[in-house]
Amino acid sequence: MTAPLLTVTDLEVTFKIRRGLLRPTRKLRAVNGVSFHIEPGETLAVVGESGSGKSTVARAVMRLLEPSRGSIHLDGDDISAMKGEALRRIRPKLQMVFQDPYSSLDPSMIIADVVGEPLTVHGVATGAERDRRVQDLLEQVGLGRYHMNRYPHEFSGGQRQRIAIARAIALEPKLLVLDEAVSALDVSTQNQILNLLEDLRRELGIAYLFISHDLGVVEHIADRVAVTYLGRIVEEGPTERVFAKPAHPYTEALLSAVPVPNPRIQRSRQRIVLPGDVPSPLAPPSGCPFHTRCPHVMDVCRGEMPSHESVADGGSVACYLGRV
Ligand code: SF4
Repeated sequence: MTAPLLTVTDLEVTFKIRRGLLRPTRKLRAVNGVSFHIEPGETLAVVGESGSGKSTVARAVMRLLEPSRGSIHLDGDDISAMKGEALRRIRPKLQMVFQDPYSSLDPSMIIADVVGEPLTVHGVATGAERDRRVQDLLEQVGLGRYHMNRYPHEFSGGQRQRIAIARAIALEPKLLVLDEAVSALDVSTQNQILNLLEDLRRELGIAYLFISHDLGVVEHIADRVAVTYLGRIVEEGPTERVFAKPAHPYTEALLSAVPVPNPRIQRSRQRIVLPGDVPSPLAPPSGCPFHTRCPHVMDVCRGEMPSHESVADGGSVACYLGRV
């Protein structure tokens, strides 16, 4: 068995919130006790509603945010406390593609510089050699080399996301963090980008940490899925098992909202509508974080947070159902 490429253990990320100058600061725990791993070349999707902490996990893994607890190991190195030059040295292994293809590219730079910048910054290639590498990268993401001297505003959203991916793979990373990378695109462009990511994964062996609110998208790209609620992972497992036999009531509710292509099956499905909203992470519920909305809530759920236990056919779930 190979060692995991990325291991995140008991990750916690907190923010200090102050409402008004004279009020005391409060602690918002955006991510709480999150653990997962990603094997080389594997895709793990972290899914959840807005405010579930999934993008905070992505930013902590990228070391754009400081974890307040826990560890992050990448390719054998503990990167959770790395700073300065040490962090710069591991950057080539770890790259990110953001949601918004309109604001993630510098509008004043031509594409040759947008894509070639990481090669220059990390001393990989300059001049004609850099241009040759950029041409190859553009072709690898399905864009012609004749785009080199154009500016980002001259491209569609899907093309810009291809450019962002070309830049992200320029340093041959081992892990690409994709934060809602296809969410701003229309369905057909989404599919094209997902196919491109799948091709790149096969050709280059890159692993993906795929952050998304859309379980429909995740089904087509992820090997494993981790479902987040109020800063915690409540269920994780192989994509096939999670979609066929969700073990957590929250996963079940999310899946019931995913449309299926067959209209007959779609008509016969029952959507699970959860009462209320996601509680504020400033005042999370006691015990199971989902107990204020769970259709199966029991007394025990309001006491202690359930631990993760293994699920038949793979993965684990944090829920008392079937245990008490
Ligand atoms: Fe629902 Fe209880 Fe399971 Fe939480 S632990 S998801 S409240 S049944």
